[in-house]
Amino acid sequence: MWPYHPELLARPVPRYTSFPTAAEFSAAVGSVQQAGALADLRGDVSLYLHIPFCEEICWYCGCNTSRVNKAQRLATYLDALHREIALVGGRLRIGGEDGVRVRRIAFGGGSPNAISPLDFVRLVDALTVHMPLYDPVVSVELDPRTLTEDWATVLHCVGVTRASMGVQTFEPRLQAAIGRLQPDASIVRGTDMLRRAGVTSLNFDLMYGLPGQTDDDLAASLARSMELGADRIALFGYAHVPHLIPRQRRIAADDLPDQAARFRMAWNGWRQLTEAGYQPVGFDHFALPGDALAQAALSGRLHRNFQGFTEDAAPVLLGLGASAISAFPGVIVQNEKNSGRYRMLLSQDQLAGTLGVARTEEDRARGQIIEALLCRHEARLVGERMARMLPELVRFSELGLIETSGDMLRIRPDGLPYARTIAALFDPYRQESGRRFSSAV
Ligand code: SF4
Repeated sequence: MWPYHPELLARPVPRYTSFPTAAEFSAAVGSVQQAGALADLRGDVSLYLHIPFCEEICWYCGCNTSRVNKAQRLATYLDALHREIALVGGRLRIGGEDGVRVRRIAFGGGSPNAISPLDFVRLVDALTVHMPLYDPVVSVELDPRTLTEDWATVLHCVGVTRASMGVQTFEPRLQAAIGRLQPDASIVRGTDMLRRAGVTSLNFDLMYGLPGQTDDDLAASLARSMELGADRIALFGYAHVPHLIPRQRRIAADDLPDQAARFRMAWNGWRQLTEAGYQPVGFDHFALPGDALAQAALSGRLHRNFQGFTEDAAPVLLGLGASAISAFPGVIVQNEKNSGRYRMLLSQDQLAGTLGVARTEEDRARGQIIEALLCRHEARLVGERMARMLPELVRFSELGLIETSGDMLRIRPDGLPYARTIAALFDPYRQESGRRFSSAV
C-alpha cells in the first residue's frame, strides 16, 4: 500500500489538464486573441468537438451538458457548430510546408451519440470540406445505453478506431445512488458493437469513491472491465462538489467513502490493474501493453490535455462547440459556455471565444514541469529553479515521496498518489486556492 499522509491530500488541487488552469481564465482574453492565434497557426493540430447533450443527466456529472429533449435546440446547436467549423476552417493556413494539418479529431460531450447518426455524418462531412484533414485518428465518447446498430455502422464508415464508454460501475446499487442505471447487458452490447465497427482501442471510464461503494464493489467492476477486454481504463475518484455542480445535491453525501477509504480504493485499483498486466498511465489511467497510450507512457511520450492523458503530441488543440477550449502555445481560449449565447455568436459568424488566459514564458516553463511530473513522474528544474523549490520539496523528500539529483526531481513510486499535490507546488496561482478543486486522491 502507498504510504498515507492525509495532511498532504487535505488541500484540493487541480487536475492540471492545462496550465494555467481554467480557474485563471478571465474575460480579458477572448475572440480577438483567438483570431490572432488561428492566423498564426502552423503544422499539426488536433480538433475537439463538444456535443453538450445527453439522453439523461447523471447526478454526478460535471460536464457542460443538458438533456436532448428539444429537437429545435439540438438543430440550432448543430447549425452553430457547422458555422463554427466553416468559420475556423476558413481562417487556417492551408497547404504548403507550414500549412495546418489536422491529425486527430475527438468528439466528446455530453454524449456525442445523443445526436442522430446522420447528424454525426454531416459533422464529419463539414470537417472534411472545411478543415485540412491529414488521415486523422478519430475518437468518440459514447453512452452505451443509447448506442444503436445505426451508430455502429456510421462509426465504421467514418473510420472511428477509438472509443470511450462511460461505465463508472457495474454495481446496480451504486448506479442507483448516482443516477445512472446501466445494465451489464448494455455494456456487453456496446462493447460488441464497437468491436465489430472496427474500434481497436476501447476505453472504459470507471469511478471510485462513490456513495456506499465498497472495496469489493470496485474490484468487481475492474474485473468485469478486464473480462470485457477494455484496452484502456480511466479510474477517476468521484469529486463531490455540490457547491459547484448543483446536480450533485441528489447524491447522498453521508454515504461517501472518507478520504482514507478513497485512498485505499485508488491503491487497490492500481494494484489490481497492474497485477493483471495493465500499464499505469499517469496517475489515473491504465492501458494494455499493446495500446498506443501504454506505449507512450513506456517511452516517455505521454502528454496531458483537456481530455486527460494522451499520446497526442500536437502542440495545438482546437476546441469547437459551446464551452470547448482551444490551447495554443501563447494563449488558451474557451468558447462561450452558454449554448444560447454560443448559438447567437455563431449566427453572426463571430468567433465564440469569450474567456481565456495568455500564457507567459514563465507559465509555459511551469506548465512543462507540471506536465512532466504528471506524465513521466520526473522533471528537470533548470537554472535557479531547483534551489528556489528546495524548501517546499523538503517535506516530500523526508517522507521518501520524491528524490532529487542535480537538477532532476523524481517522484518515487510511493509518491505517485501525491503527484498532483507535488505538481501544485509549481503553480503560483494555487497559493491562495479555495475549494474550487477536487480532492487530490
Ligand atoms: S452520460 Fe456522461 S456526459 Fe452525459 S450526464 Fe452522464 S456522465 Fe455526464
